[in-house]
Amino acid sequence: MKRTTISKQTAAELESPEAIGRVDDLLASVGLIHGTRASRRNTWQSGERKPVGRNKNLAEQAKRVPPAKLELEHAHLLAKFEKEIVHAFSTRAGGVSRVYRPYLPASKGDLNLGYTKHDERTNVEENRKRLLQSVADKDKLWKLVTLHQKHTPIVRMLDDESVTQMRGDAILTQLHHRLIAVMTADCVPVLLYDPKHKAIGAFHAGWRGTLARIVERGVGTMRLAFGSKPSDLVAAIGPSIGPCCYSVGEEVRHEFLSQFEYAPSLFTDVYESDPIRDKYPLLFLTARAPGHSPIGPQLHLNLWEANRRQLLDAGLAKKNISVAEACTACGTSRYFSHRSEQGFTGRMMSVIGLR
Ligand SMILES: [Zn+2]
Repeated sequence: MKRTTISKQTAAELESPEAIGRVDDLLASVGLIHGTRASRRNTWQSGERKPVGRNKNLAEQAKRVPPAKLELEHAHLLAKFEKEIVHAFSTRAGGVSRVYRPYLPASKGDLNLGYTKHDERTNVEENRKRLLQSVADKDKLWKLVTLHQKHTPIVRMLDDESVTQMRGDAILTQLHHRLIAVMTADCVPVLLYDPKHKAIGAFHAGWRGTLARIVERGVGTMRLAFGSKPSDLVAAIGPSIGPCCYSVGEEVRHEFLSQFEYAPSLFTDVYESDPIRDKYPLLFLTARAPGHSPIGPQLHLNLWEANRRQLLDAGLAKKNISVAEACTACGTSRYFSHRSEQGFTGRMMSVIGLR
């Protein structure tokens, strides 16, 4: 008997134009010729998969040259109180760090604000100085208070004027001329202001912090510590990974289902496109019951909505919550994204301070 040996092939080999061509020929030999065959012909280049859809967007973005000036984002709800507070969500633009995009023109760099293992300390210090000068007082720098973030639900109270670093994932304070900060590269930053009691809060909410209700806890702590009324509070949810990109495992859904009655509405099934599957969908129909097919959709989590729901549950008014709805993973020319850049990325800062 004649045996055919099939050697193990890499994903790149299986997706090469030659491999796809062999599948085409095989299917054509039994009369299966898909209508899109010709149109697909030009989507491949020199043995490499030409990025399509989201990947094409990312590849194009990475090449884009950022502005040399600092570009900060502001939530309109917090900007209304600019006589009382300052606040900002940083972007990549306007820094001196070049490790993450060495191919950019020499005068352009990223505003990396975290002491990452790839970047030099002096770069981060210069970037932080630029942020402080731009957000608050140009001549007399405010004190920056950062967190040693650990994806916990720990909310810290800043009442000691000498402190510049704390452990936990949220800071609350009534001290003036301090910029309290959270650092992110996909996780959700949330800023809070109580205009009645002149108190502020900054939160770092990844999926773990969100699951542990860090924002709800924070509002509770503000009630106890400052006498805040949730209906007076104003909140801003900053740029972070969106429901378009944040795929998670089934275990994350289980955890959320056990905690929140509205959890089902936070998850969506997203089907990724695949060149062979797109071309010959009939080949991939299975006789298995739905949910039991090996070709499943991806599960995406909406952390923006999860945190907005927590703020509502904590008693905030709908009109007092703003969501930036800017996805860091979709926009890597403007934002750092841990997920899109496979961990090789910088950190953005979300800051708020009382004048
Ligand atoms: Zn996205």
